Amino acid sequence: MARAKLAASILSADFAHLGDQVKLVEPYADMVHVDVMDAHFVPPLTIGPVVVESLRPVSALPLHCHLMIERPEALFDDFAKAGTDMVTFHLEAAPDPEAVIAEARARGMRAGMAVNPDTPVENVFDYLDRIDNLIVMSVRPGWAGQDFMEEVLPKVEAARTEIDRRGVTVDVEVDGGINEESGRRCLEAGATVLAVASSIFKAPDPADAARRLSVLTRESGGEG
Ligand code: ZN
Repeated sequence: MARAKLAASILSADFAHLGDQVKLVEPYADMVHVDVMDAHFVPPLTIGPVVVESLRPVSALPLHCHLMIERPEALFDDFAKAGTDMVTFHLEAAPDPEAVIAEARARGMRAGMAVNPDTPVENVFDYLDRIDNLIVMSVRPGWAGQDFMEEVLPKVEAARTEIDRRGVTVDVEVDGGINEESGRRCLEAGATVLAVASSIFKAPDPADAARRLSVLTRESGGEG
């Protein structure tokens, strides 16, 4: 089993110094996780393709956009042009997930799906052979700094079991309230990606916080 990966989630970063913040954690992170919110699917409003475009030349890390927005496919042209490597959209925001997956792939982007804490993870099982990533939300989407909801751990286990049963390659990413302690439990449950915002960017030393989390992910799966 390949080692797990660390996604540095910029939701908690200092947006006036975003490029510098990403550079700080780049040696330890495997990807940059960009939380896109539209004030409809979730109440807050965050950032979109323009910021992704600015980040693209700053870092060689894959840019992963987690789209907490209605009608995600309407912005796929813009995200693709901005240099997005993967878009993960919410099942709750997509009446026809197959069409959304196809729209992402048609623009050269990888595709993932996300489920909110109240959504059964089984609802995405029919799409597992068509996606690269599955985000299991471990907080209610919208705000950084919330406490990890440990009741989602059985969803992580169920997703991992089903992915292995089908013999497909899909990352299971846990997003929300991840620190070293909750992150370890997610990895034990079968997660392969930890999305971390506040525990990196609100730490006194973001680079060291990312380094510590990367030790956790790199040790996971039995490889150094
Ligand atoms: Zn996210």
